[in-house]
Formats: sequence, C-alpha cells, structure tokens
Amino acid sequence: MSNNNYFCTCCAVAIESHKAVNCLICGKTYKIECVNISTAEARKIHAKSGLTWSCKDCLNMGNDLLSLKRAIVNLQSEIIKLKTAVATPPAPNTITPILVQEEKIIQEINEREKRKGNLIIYGAKEDGNAKSNDDQLKSDATQIPKILETLEVNENL
Ligand SMILES: [Zn+2]
Ligand SMILES: [Zn+2]
Repeated sequence: MSNNNYFCTCCAVAIESHKAVNCLICGKTYKIECVNISTAEARKIHAKSGLTWSCKDCLNMGNDLLSLKRAIVNLQSEIIKLKTAVATPPAPNTITPILVQEEKIIQEINEREKRKGNLIIYGAKEDGNAKSNDDQLKSDATQIPKILETLEVNENL
C-alpha cells in the first residue's frame, strides 16, 4: 500500500495511509486531523481492536433514525389505545338504567289504569291457599258475588 493512495473526503488533501480513517458506515476516507482523531486512536482503529469510527453525517443519520424510531413507537402505542377504545363496548350502566326506568314507568301507568275500575273491599278474605296472584283473583271472583249478595246490590245495576 503506497503512502498517498488516500484523499480526505472533506478537504481533498492526500493522506498517508496511517493517517487515514474510514467511516464504518459509509466507508468514506478522512484525514485523522480533520476529524479530531489522534494517531494512537487511528492505530487502534486500523488494528481492528474494537475501536470503530463513523463520520458526522452517518452519526447524524443514526440520530435521525433514532428519533424516527421513537416517533414510530409512540404512534404505535397511540394506535393500540385507539383500537382498544373502539373495540370496547360502552359500559352497560350507561344505557340500562334508562331502559329499566322506562319499563318501571310503563308498568306503573298500566297498574294505575287497572286500578281505576277497582272497588276496594275492606276485610275481604285473603285466600290462604293462594299460591299466585291468579289464585287470589279466582278466590276474589267467588267471594265478591257473595259479598254483593249480602249487601243486596244488584250486579247488573
Ligand atoms: Zn479533510
Ligand atoms: Zn460516514
């Protein structure tokens, strides 16, 4: 390898091989004085002893890539949050109480409508054997005519 095979990328000056460094990433050659590398450091780089060097452009690109990666990771977590929000149905409490309330109101109105035609008889016997509301109604149906008879009220009045 002859001494003046290299030219610095930044200043185009001819470089002796022991004073030239190559960027690890782009492979461009620089004079060590131009990129603040000591001869001792250059020796280590040339010996491939683990010390590597990359030019400013490549380092900046690395930083740009890092910020891009960070931006992508942030966007991904935002997308996951949005997807979860869309996929989760609204909590049941937000809808059901309104329906239940409406049902109760309708039931109450129906009950009141039924009671409009009611005749309240105090002291009428509750059927002890009545298992359901229907049984009680049957028992009432047999009791009431007897009560009316006693009171001498004509049912067809
Ligand atoms: Zn230079
Ligand atoms: Zn480079």
